Amino acid sequence: GLYLKALEIQGFKSFPDKTVLTFGEDITAIVGPNGSGKSNLSDAIRWVMGEQSTRALRGGKMEDVIFGGTEKRRQVGFAEVSLVLDNQDHALSLPEDEVMVTRRYYRSGESEYYINRRTVRLRDVNELFMDTGLGREGYSIIGQGKIDEILSVKSADRREIFEEAAGISRFRHRKEEAERR
Ligand code: ATP
Ligand code: MG
Repeated sequence: GLYLKALEIQGFKSFPDKTVLTFGEDITAIVGPNGSGKSNLSDAIRWVMGEQSTRALRGGKMEDVIFGGTEKRRQVGFAEVSLVLDNQDHALSLPEDEVMVTRRYYRSGESEYYINRRTVRLRDVNELFMDTGLGREGYSIIGQGKIDEILSVKSADRREIFEEAAGISRFRHRKEEAERR
């Protein structure tokens, strides 16, 4: 099925150098001390899939996603993240067996999006992930705060999350039924 094969990061948050992570079809756990950049990796995935909310990205302004420098390293001029997805079953409606989605952002405020190295618009990225369970509206990325919400003793919070999920499942099921006919 559709799965994340690789994540390439350059100049994003705490990753000034080009960093490539490859994933298998099974479970991957990312471990490391506090502040080592684990959450920055999930922010990178969220960001490349089109996240526009700086709050969701744990920053104040979009520029905060660009490596801002340390005592040892100068800041960089842009952030770039690419996702490589396995598309052999064509869950993403593109002919390629592998799909690369890239987002680049400059300090000037200029944004660029690419699908398989072709320049696209943000809405093309959104459309690519629509109804795949991935993307901004999907439930594929559950943040630290969300887990707290699920585990919360307040049953109303919990119910909201599960009702939301149930609503989505029902909708998805109906769509699949319609497609089978
Ligand atoms: P925890 O285990 O506490 O959740 P973590 O591994 O998830 O930690 P992150 O939140 O991913 O850690 O990383 C935090 C680090 O990223 C901080 O040291 C912060 O200074 C650094 N960082 C965030 N944004 C930038 C940026 N734009 N430029 C440079 N460093 C940044
Ligand atoms: Mg974290």
